[in-house]
Amino acid sequence: MPQQHILKIAEIFPSIQGEGLRQGEATIFIRLSGCNLKCSFCDTKYAWKEGQERSTAQVLEKIRKLRPRFPAQWVCLTGGEPLVQDLAELVKGLKKEDFKVQVETNATLYRPLPVDWYSISPKPDKYSYRAEYRERAKEVKLIVTKNLDFELIRRLRKEFPDKTPFFLQPQSNRKWSMILGMKLLKQALKAGQKNIRLSIQLHKIYGLR
Ligand code: SF4
Repeated sequence: MPQQHILKIAEIFPSIQGEGLRQGEATIFIRLSGCNLKCSFCDTKYAWKEGQERSTAQVLEKIRKLRPRFPAQWVCLTGGEPLVQDLAELVKGLKKEDFKVQVETNATLYRPLPVDWYSISPKPDKYSYRAEYRERAKEVKLIVTKNLDFELIRRLRKEFPDKTPFFLQPQSNRKWSMILGMKLLKQALKAGQKNIRLSIQLHKIYGLR
């Protein structure tokens, strides 16, 4: 019997995509364990742990079982940082099941996967990202932490095509972060920056995971 690829999984659950352009769409989330960064504001620190070992076949089986009661078209691979792990077999299996696949990444790692949607969120304080995402990212999400300033937004905005939206996402939907996001948006608009939008974590408002 061929050896099964083993993944470390934090959780698998149906919900809605709460962030970015796909906001509001029914989505099954596979949260992979582990992350190569340790952001102080991380709201999924539990995914830094080892997680449960599951073969790709077991993960696909779980998704298959979820589908009849939650017939979502999309699966989102998130974390932690999902690209710490080799996801090639999982993505291939999901595509075979006719899912659209989104990857949410901090963008410091890149794997050439046949996914439909790379959603990137470079993190402070360096906001570094792999150059492969310049053309491949469908959206860029910037968490509005106290370190985010207009010069940073301007630098990053210049490095991506205008058609790629930038979302200013409040840190855990906090009020101070929304106020700062609005201030940064105004600055960006006045400076003629294109395709920058305010955002919100919709799933938290709905009390969902
Ligand atoms: S990159 Fe994301 S998952 Fe990793 S520590 Fe930072 S916020 Fe958390």
